[in-house]
Amino acid sequence: MSDSKRGKASDWPVRRGRRAGKKSVAKPGAEFVRLRKGAELAHGMFGARAERLLRLANLELPVPKAIAISVDTVRGIAAGRMPNSAGLLAAFGETPLLAVRSSPGMASWGRAQTILHVGMNFDSLKQLKLRMGDVAALELYAKFVVEYSVEVARLDPESFDDPGKPADPSERLDAALSVYESDVGAPFPQSIEVQLGNALRAIAQAWEGTSARMLRRARGAPEDAGLALIVQEASTALATGENGSGSLSSAHPKTGAAGLFGHYASAAHGRIEVGGVAGAELDGQIRQVLEDASRCLAKLRESERDACEIEFGVSGGGLRLLDYGPAARSAAAEIGIAVGLAKDGTITKRCALTRIEPDSLGRILHRQVNPLHGHKVLARGVGASPGAASGAIVFSAAAAEACAARGGSCILVRVETGPEDIRSMYFAKAVLTGRGGATSHAAVIARGLGVPCVAGASDLHFDQKGQALVLADGRVLGEGDVLTVDGTRGEVLEGAVPLVESAVNDEIVEFLGWADLQRDMAVRANADTTAEVRAARSFGAEGIGLCRTEHMFFGETRLTVMRELIFADSDEERRSALDQLLGMQRSDFISMFEIMKGWPVCIRLFDPPLHEFLPHDRDEIRDLAGALGQPVSKVAARAEELREFNPMLGLRGVRLGVTVPEIYEMQARAIFEATAEANRHGDSVVPEIMVPLVSAHREMELVRKRVDAVARSVRNESGTDFEYSIGVMVETPRAALRAGDLAKDSSFLSFGTNDLTQMTYGISRDDSPRFMAAYLAQGVFPQDPFSSLDHEGVGELLLTAAERGRASRQDLVLAICGEHGGDPSSIEFCRNAGFDYVSCSPFRLPIARLAAAQAAIRAGEGA
Ligand code: PEP
Ligand code: MG
Repeated sequence: MSDSKRGKASDWPVRRGRRAGKKSVAKPGAEFVRLRKGAELAHGMFGARAERLLRLANLELPVPKAIAISVDTVRGIAAGRMPNSAGLLAAFGETPLLAVRSSPGMASWGRAQTILHVGMNFDSLKQLKLRMGDVAALELYAKFVVEYSVEVARLDPESFDDPGKPADPSERLDAALSVYESDVGAPFPQSIEVQLGNALRAIAQAWEGTSARMLRRARGAPEDAGLALIVQEASTALATGENGSGSLSSAHPKTGAAGLFGHYASAAHGRIEVGGVAGAELDGQIRQVLEDASRCLAKLRESERDACEIEFGVSGGGLRLLDYGPAARSAAAEIGIAVGLAKDGTITKRCALTRIEPDSLGRILHRQVNPLHGHKVLARGVGASPGAASGAIVFSAAAAEACAARGGSCILVRVETGPEDIRSMYFAKAVLTGRGGATSHAAVIARGLGVPCVAGASDLHFDQKGQALVLADGRVLGEGDVLTVDGTRGEVLEGAVPLVESAVNDEIVEFLGWADLQRDMAVRANADTTAEVRAARSFGAEGIGLCRTEHMFFGETRLTVMRELIFADSDEERRSALDQLLGMQRSDFISMFEIMKGWPVCIRLFDPPLHEFLPHDRDEIRDLAGALGQPVSKVAARAEELREFNPMLGLRGVRLGVTVPEIYEMQARAIFEATAEANRHGDSVVPEIMVPLVSAHREMELVRKRVDAVARSVRNESGTDFEYSIGVMVETPRAALRAGDLAKDSSFLSFGTNDLTQMTYGISRDDSPRFMAAYLAQGVFPQDPFSSLDHEGVGELLLTAAERGRASRQDLVLAICGEHGGDPSSIEFCRNAGFDYVSCSPFRLPIARLAAAQAAIRAGEGA
């Protein structure tokens, strides 16, 4: 079944007796029950199909005569104890043709078995010839003989594969009968009792067989899962008039739009695809069939409060429902259906909101691999940014840019990415890395850009120097070879595979509007560039919750200026670099404030270790030496001096703010000058300045004092007044524990749960994929704590910090801005902890909006 299906008919729990007013009541001992209006089924004893058929009968929808045989009786049949066949057959009249169908508790528990036209013999052949004509009747009998021989008598199907098959149906029937007779040593049974008894026993015994039991176990069925059976009047092609069968749904499988969709196979007119309405050009009888089907679907939609699909047969123009279930649907159709149901009052808007998995919105917003087409998986890693893209492998920024300039699609392939790769990520359609996890650099940037990313594909060998990618089977891919990155599933696929386009439509926009009315927590975005800020607004961000300012320094020219600052020899050189950066940052913030039009913007001061800006190899050192006018040896020595053993725990974040204060002062000035400018233009901006990696209160006191001083200067120089706030990014366990102190100098605490998770577990966020799969498989962690917040440990730190922080400052704003801010279960945790907002990458905003609404509804506090 494709991913686009919500569930198989028989996986769908039957909602009991809302209209019919009937309850399935245990009736111990009943061997079989006639499935007609008002019948009662002992709970769990007749399987899901029987319950659905009874439901159809209770709704007074047309169903064929049917008898359900209980699980216990079927067990007896497997052991050779046959039920009373006269009683079984009594309901079906003189010479019936029957279908035997399986009715397990869930369809997925086993192979759905059906044996059609039980009762077919030479007597019924005579009658059928009169009704259907000789050829059709003979063909029907011949088909039954083969099916019975294979499925019931367990003869080898190949015995019936005669390459020189006679064209004459009468000869074909004779041939099948004689194969049966010679293989079994007896003529083909003519008695309906014998045929039925053998058919029931064959299906019952197959269910008890070893392979069926192993399959059930693999599919999670209980050890004692039983099978019920249904004996039903066969309805196809047995009467004069219109005959056929079909499967129709009341919703478009891709959009969920109401209508009639599916197919109908008419015995006389062939297959008809139905794509919306019963067309006027159709044969009158067929049009009637479709109208009848449409009426049945409307009744089911109302009673099930969902779009449905039906399987049906048509005999002599009369339609009989054989089964029903939820309409097949894509993720977008799921929303379309829910919106349609809410709009016509079938369900409430709140109910519609709770029906959609928030993560399914991620599938709608991005292109996906088409699940209907086969593909070969070359490697697996962490699905770090959703969506899928195909393109030619590139290993460098220059190659990515060149490819994009030619109008091509490229996949950036790196062992891991760093600041210098950001530029190439703009040109790439997808990113693939050998190292890193859900919170690695590549993951964070790719999610911000809305570009698919698979990170930590550790079974690939990356030969960066040789510009080659070595697969686990030894094959080597080079620049220009095409592959597909599926960031939703974390798979790397061979070649370019067919993709399904993203499907944002008006219904989704409306649906998210409903979610917003239920939310009691704000939703902001993590965005660093004007493109991301624009995307954030278009996805409904109510502010920026994290602007990682260092990402603004990674453009080619800015990287050089940043390096000039780091390598400056004199105060004058440092000042000149800072002045250049000031101008650049100011214009960054001006554009950001302009787009956000007064919505809050939280700007994080410089966070990464300086080491990330150092030149990597001799070529880069030489280029930098040229730009600085310094000898290569001096630049190399300075780079060496700045290298750290463990840079992520080294001189970074607020530690730089304390020891190299000029950088934070420059950033504060840029923010305030941009604020003054925005205010002059009428956008009343109140910037929020966030200090990263704090662990001690004194760090905050020092930074705050300097930021306040810069604000005073800018107010004086510009002659404008403005407000701002300053707060802590809680990323170290100590900051969480000391939140009471920190709140004295902070208006807000925003939890950077990427680093907080890393430091709480002592697990590197970049290296965890090496062992995470093994940890998850062995149940060490229930899920990857870098993807979904660890409620117990990291969560306790969040709760402790929230409580201590708010005890010392009542109006303290609480937020989360780590990647968990886009994860539904983490969002619910934060909402229930009284947080004011979550912040996530722009493309995850719809997920966050819906998850926050669902959390409020579940807590009974939605609007
Ligand atoms: C964090 O640590 O949670 C965070 C958001 O910051 P970064 O990912 O930039 O380290
Ligand atoms: Mg961090």
